[in-house]
Amino acid sequence: MVLLAIGVRPEVSLAKEAGLEIGQLGGIRVDGEMYTSDQRIWAVGDAVEVRNFVSGEWSLFPLAGVANRQGRIAADVILGRKARFRGVQGTIVCKVFDVTVAATGMSEKSLNRSKDGGLGEHYEKIYLHPGHHVGYYPGAKPITMKLIFSTEDGRIMGAQAVGEEGVEKRIDVIAMAIQKGATVFDLEETELCYAPQFGAAKDPVNIAGMIAANVLRGDAPVAHWADVKSTEAYILDVREPQEFALGHVEGASNIPLHSLRDNMSKLPRDREILVYCAVGQRSYYASRALRLNGLPAKNISGGMKTYHAERAGPPSENPKNTVPPG
Ligand SMILES: Cc1cc2nc3c(=O)[nH]c(=O)nc-3n(C[C@H](O)[C@H](O)[C@H](O)COP(=O)(O)OP(=O)(O)OC[C@H]3O[C@@H](n4cnc5c(N)ncnc54)[C@H](O)[C@@H]3O)c2cc1C
Repeated sequence: MVLLAIGVRPEVSLAKEAGLEIGQLGGIRVDGEMYTSDQRIWAVGDAVEVRNFVSGEWSLFPLAGVANRQGRIAADVILGRKARFRGVQGTIVCKVFDVTVAATGMSEKSLNRSKDGGLGEHYEKIYLHPGHHVGYYPGAKPITMKLIFSTEDGRIMGAQAVGEEGVEKRIDVIAMAIQKGATVFDLEETELCYAPQFGAAKDPVNIAGMIAANVLRGDAPVAHWADVKSTEAYILDVREPQEFALGHVEGASNIPLHSLRDNMSKLPRDREILVYCAVGQRSYYASRALRLNGLPAKNISGGMKTYHAERAGPPSENPKNTVPPG
């Protein structure tokens, strides 16, 4: 089967004939009240370019919810009621066979492309792989999540998630948080539905907030696999020896978490220590223990699962080998 994801281009010939301003992305330029450049003409939906809620840049998002909200706003404005479109943030969901993919707000790529305000320079990201509900209730499926946030004030800039269950629920919550200008500190405190069938006492949304807040407070700084290649840092794998033997990052030393406190004297004090495990939880405990003992440790966000996801290969691809860092 071949799936083509070829994108969408607005059909704006009528607007062009009417002399309306067309934006660089090929859509009809409208303002918050859905006015086109001709004050007698409004436009809504797939054909219009509107401001991105997070970046403030012109954006083109052909989405049904966006088109409907714009239609309602244009109708209000036409009939003299005050109404304003808040902007589009690109909340999307898609099902690919058994896997759900969802996102809201800015992606890292779009942030790095962003020209307005240099947004791309002031963000951090974290990865996590929580279950969609607690592990002790049967049927928990992992969700891989990425949260992007401002390092200046913790404002949430975007989130992406992939998994089989509970993916869109988390992205919907974060979408609302973004629209209300919430921060990662708000995600930590968000009160969400919990019973074992549906979530966890610390929902993935809360955990994402907690990890990000730990970064911003300096309690548990993160590093990323892309940084590892060029680093002089000491790479520490805190998984069990059996896991290490099945595949680890080239040059990494293995000290399992449970024996870390007894082996701290073996670690260098003059080099940064980048710690990883399977998904980032044991390495979080390890990095906390190391930092509390004065060692400059960072947790490699998302662990081996993120490592393999970034390379689009399952861990079993390299069952007996070391894999290059970064
Ligand atoms: C296969 C498919 C699946 C989609 N699934 C999703 C989804 O799951 N979620 C989501 O958010 N969005 C989805 N979308 C996008 C969503 O359908 C659009 O964003 C939404 O319909 C846009 O509304 P609109 O009013 O701007 O345009 P449209 O719904 O396309 O309406 C435009 C109308 O204008 C008419 N028209 C065009 N030219 C002229 C003319 N010259 N004179 C008179 N009439 C004209 C057209 O016939 C059409 O009826 C999907 C789109 C497609 C094609």
